[in-house]
Amino acid sequence: LFAGPCDFFHGAQQLEQLPDPGEPEVAFAGRSNVGKSSLINAVTGRRSLARASSEPGRTKQLNFFNLANKLVLVDMPGYGFAKAARAVKEDWQEMMFSYLRGRPNLRRVILLLDSRIETKASDREVMELFDLAAINFQVVLTKCDSVKPRAEKARYQNVMEEVGRHPAAHPVVIPTSSETGRGIPELRAELAGFAQP
Ligand code: GDP
Repeated sequence: LFAGPCDFFHGAQQLEQLPDPGEPEVAFAGRSNVGKSSLINAVTGRRSLARASSEPGRTKQLNFFNLANKLVLVDMPGYGFAKAARAVKEDWQEMMFSYLRGRPNLRRVILLLDSRIETKASDREVMELFDLAAINFQVVLTKCDSVKPRAEKARYQNVMEEVGRHPAAHPVVIPTSSETGRGIPELRAELAGFAQP
C-alpha cells in the first residue's frame, strides 16, 4: 500500500467540488501547525506530498491523495487560527460537518494533537463535531521527539481521559514523531486496515 504511487488528485474548496465517493477514505485533521503535512509525508513516504496543501491560499481546501487505488487520504484544512473571523470559522465548521456527514466511504478521521501543547477549545469543538456526525476518530499525538518522557506520559494520560469522554473516539492513541519515524508503522497498520484488498 505504501510502496506504490501516491498522488494528489483533487482539491475541493466547496462541497460541490468533492470527488465522487470511491475507495475507502481516511481524513487527517488538526490545528494549524500541529504537524499534519509532516505526518502525511512520513506515512506515505513522500517528501513533499502534503506541502502544497499548507501553502497559503490552499489551506482552506480538502486535498485528496490516492494510495495505490486502494485508499484515499484526505488532508483537511487546519483549524484553530486564533485571528480568523468568526464567519471563516463557521464556514469551516459547516463545510467539514457536511463533508463528514455526507461521506459514505469515510472510514475514520485521524485527529492530530500536539504533544507539547494542551488540548485547546478548538480541538474539543472538533471532537464534539465528530461525535455529532458519528464519525469514528482516532487521536495521534505529534512531535513526540520534542517532549521529555515524563511530560509525554502526562499528556498521553490527559488525552486518554479526553478520548474516553467522546463516544465517537477510537480508544487507541498513537504517539508519533515525523522526525524519528516513531509511531509511523502503527499508523500505517491502522490505515492498511481500511484499504480495499
Ligand atoms: P501543519 O501546519 O499541521 O501541516 O504542520 P507542518 O507539518 O507544516 O509542521 C509544522 C511545524 O512543526 C514545522 O516547523 C515542522 O518542522 C514541525 N514539525 C512537524 N512534525 C514534527 C515532528 O515530528 N517533530 C518536531 N520536532 N517538529 C515537527
